[in-house]
Amino acid sequence: MEDGLVNRKRRMCRPARLAGCFFAAALPLAAQGIPQSTAPTPVSTSAIGDTAGLAREANVWLAQLIQINTTNPPGNEQAAAKYVAGILAREGITPEILEVMPGRSAVVARLRSSAISDPARALLLVAHMDVVGAERSRWSVDPFGAVIKDGYIYGRGALDDKSMLAANLATIIGLKRANARLNRDVIFLATDDEEGGGEASIKTLIAKNWDKFAAGFAINEGGEVVMKGGKVQYVAVQASEKVSVNVAVVAKGTVGHASVPTKDNAVVHLAAAVEKIGNYSAPVHFTTIVRRYFEGLAAISDDEIAKWMRSMETSDRGEHAQRVISDANPQWGAMMRDSIAPTMLNAGVRPNVIPGEARAILNVRLLPGDTIDVLLGELRKLVNDPQVRLEVQPNGGLAAPPSSLESDFYAAISKVAEQEFPGAPVLPYQSTWATDSAQLRLHNVQAYGLWPFPVTDEDLKRMHGDDERISIASFNKGVEVLARIVSEFAVAK
Ligand SMILES: [Zn+2]
Repeated sequence: MEDGLVNRKRRMCRPARLAGCFFAAALPLAAQGIPQSTAPTPVSTSAIGDTAGLAREANVWLAQLIQINTTNPPGNEQAAAKYVAGILAREGITPEILEVMPGRSAVVARLRSSAISDPARALLLVAHMDVVGAERSRWSVDPFGAVIKDGYIYGRGALDDKSMLAANLATIIGLKRANARLNRDVIFLATDDEEGGGEASIKTLIAKNWDKFAAGFAINEGGEVVMKGGKVQYVAVQASEKVSVNVAVVAKGTVGHASVPTKDNAVVHLAAAVEKIGNYSAPVHFTTIVRRYFEGLAAISDDEIAKWMRSMETSDRGEHAQRVISDANPQWGAMMRDSIAPTMLNAGVRPNVIPGEARAILNVRLLPGDTIDVLLGELRKLVNDPQVRLEVQPNGGLAAPPSSLESDFYAAISKVAEQEFPGAPVLPYQSTWATDSAQLRLHNVQAYGLWPFPVTDEDLKRMHGDDERISIASFNKGVEVLARIVSEFAVAK
């Protein structure tokens, strides 16, 4: 797959420190004849003049951010924080690095609209700096090389979330350079420990430093510009999210010599419990956002799927329709019910000993409004085994109220998206994944999720997977879209 140029670049990048990689990442864009932006001419104007030029600069920031390994754990976001702060400072935007824990920092910076800030009006641009781990052996390129091939930038974080981070940087820098007359403060926030959601996450940041980035509105990761067959199908704006909770399944049995099998073997009981739970499907429950999402999606889906989407709440065919839709797309199934994915198994100390305990971890995603206790009650009945216990693990997510679909910011996002992607409807979205937005919503922020980069399903699946990448044309387009959304909402007309 790799051509000679890519291989050359990889050789340059591997031994090089960041400065060397800067040029390795930045130069081949043009050298390879990769179109810098294949985006159609923007139909709306922005207070930020040359967004295409800005996007080209942001390509370099994205590449360099990928090259700073912020795999969480341990995160080491401080290195990325210093890098981001350096770029802001060079532009005359004063950054503040907030140390959340040793080695783990966030960055905040603000463009003021007036001498006295009104937090209720302020707009927050949020992105996280940490990334999930990469199994290097399964990647076709160095996950931290920011390798460019076939018009894509490859690397852990290329989508999640360093693309958003670079686009946020480009947007605030664009506003500053244009000396835009703001009608509200625009605040840049780069967070740490989003993927872990632990002690260094936005929860702590809010507890310690809320006054530094308090806002009434926010844009963050979480929604998508969904592309298929080279065309944007729809724009999903995340206004709510499911809540992640881990549950341990603990089976106890008698320790013994493996030469004498016993009926109370903990491994066998755990396996049976996991099998039952794995086949369980929680009842369907439609939130307003999910209902509106399917209504909008039905309008652009083929007749057969549309018919079932519209039948999901009918009394006669509802259940069947829910099954058809869930089978057609597991993501859809997960949007309408609590979901449970067994993710870890742990048992045994040696091959010839029956262990006294076997454990599994279930990653549960609750619909906002549902509680873990109700679900566990169902699962206990289902497992029905006195040898097996279910235990909720610490650091579960908190349910937040959804963001309003009537706010001025939602209207601004919708307006720009409709202009930028003509014919593609804007749909409210309840993500199955968790983002920092839940914590913001708990602090009365109208937070919306939108990666503004047109992305295919195939590329989206690489997020948290192997060979994560972003199309350079999509990235450039996304930078322009984000800059326009923020201009529409925050620049005085
Ligand atoms: Zn993310």
